[in-house]
Amino acid sequence: MIDQCPVGAISQQGFSLPEIDPDTCIECGHCITICGRSAVYRKP
Ligand code: SF4
Repeated sequence: MIDQCPVGAISQQGFSLPEIDPDTCIECGHCITICGRSAVYRKP
């Protein structure tokens, strides 16, 4: 999933949870669509 982000906003250190850089994210929603466990969502 990390390499699917069109602007490289998702990063991961080792086996820790991936993080999204809010300053880089363009809110395209692609990671929400492809996450198989629905772990990515928009904040209300
Ligand atoms: S919403 Fe789009 S730009 Fe933002 S982290 Fe997900 S894939 Fe990357």
